Amino acid sequence: MEGLADRLAELQGRVADACASSGRDPGEVELLAVSKTFPAEAVLEAYEAGQRNFGESRQQEAATKIEVLPGDIRWHFIGGLQRNKVRKVLSSFPVVHSMDSVRLLEHSDRIAGELAVKTQVYLEVNIAGEESKGGFLPDDLLAVGGTLVGFAHLEIRGLMVIPPEGESRRWFAETRILRDRVESATGLKLPSLSMGMSGDFEDAIREGATIVRVGSALFGHRSYMQ
Ligand SMILES: *Cc1c(COP(=O)(O)O)cnc(C)c1O
Repeated sequence: MEGLADRLAELQGRVADACASSGRDPGEVELLAVSKTFPAEAVLEAYEAGQRNFGESRQQEAATKIEVLPGDIRWHFIGGLQRNKVRKVLSSFPVVHSMDSVRLLEHSDRIAGELAVKTQVYLEVNIAGEESKGGFLPDDLLAVGGTLVGFAHLEIRGLMVIPPEGESRRWFAETRILRDRVESATGLKLPSLSMGMSGDFEDAIREGATIVRVGSALFGHRSYMQ
């Protein structure tokens, strides 16, 4: 049976090919291994194959893995972040992909200050304005622009998106355009785009992704949704 190390190597090859075919430097694109629902043993297997960045979407589930896994893993929080979980999340995750309101950013900045950590964050955008999804609506993000500067304990890296199914490439492009507009409106530098999952990460790379979040293509089918 094909092991995790083989699947990881194959995915890295696909990332490199997507970079090559779109004239991008493969060093610009990071592969985030989304390990939600998979046990610590699976994370360790990928770790032993060289993977260091892992994504989790639930604080409690992640905590049980973080406790037993090597300390040089870089954990990324990619799930919905509730206010009452901010302290726990910021104490073990150096990167959060799911900041979806100014209130949450302000609260997180204060907590990060208390914890004396500097957290890299992404602003999640609801790029297609879907009713069922969270995240900043594009116009709202442009409107709050100025309040995004000046968080002392957060480093805003860029935007994160989960596009509507079926037409993701178009929405990846829209997300990049929105990023450019927010940059010029605020003067903030937003170098990173967290976009693309197992089914569409190559298109995301073609549209400028700097970090792709890949779960099932690496770890296998998830038995429950999250
Ligand atoms: C689960 C999840 C992923 C990974 O999805 P796959 O389709 O398994 O690659 C990526 N991003 C977020 C926000 C997720 O919740």
